Amino acid sequence: MAMSDHCDFPRWLAQQGLRTTPVRLAVLEILGNAPRALRAQEILEIIRSQRRVNKVTVYRILEDFTRRGMVRKLALEGLVNHFELACEHHPPHPHFQCHSCREVQCLEPVALNRVWTELRGPVGNRADHIDIKIEGLCHKCREIS
Ligand SMILES: [Zn+2]
Ligand SMILES: [Zn+2]
Ligand SMILES: [Zn+2]
Repeated sequence: MAMSDHCDFPRWLAQQGLRTTPVRLAVLEILGNAPRALRAQEILEIIRSQRRVNKVTVYRILEDFTRRGMVRKLALEGLVNHFELACEHHPPHPHFQCHSCREVQCLEPVALNRVWTELRGPVGNRADHIDIKIEGLCHKCREIS
């Protein structure tokens, strides 16, 4: 699902009225290249392998992007949040979370699109948000156990 080559991040930031800073850009690029949803700590570590950055700065950027709908903060079990890009190339999709290592995998959104109409129910509710989570044991943890 890494499709950041489709995104023009500086343009996206400008559309949001935000200045393109190296850290803002790094957060978007890291999320765009990630094959799965990332914890804030993981994003911080990747940026820190390239430059000095304050933890608070990264967390503030993530919260700001989340508020603006540029990033999705996944509501999953566990104490840490997972983040992913919410651009037009990354429509909402179901997630698989391993109950052993807590890693979060992104699943194909195709099936969701098909059931979207049905999820609104027979009386025609307005569905604004979809959040489907599958829990289990990931392939890596299955090999260990
Ligand atoms: Zn995109
Ligand atoms: Zn696992
Ligand atoms: Zn995802």
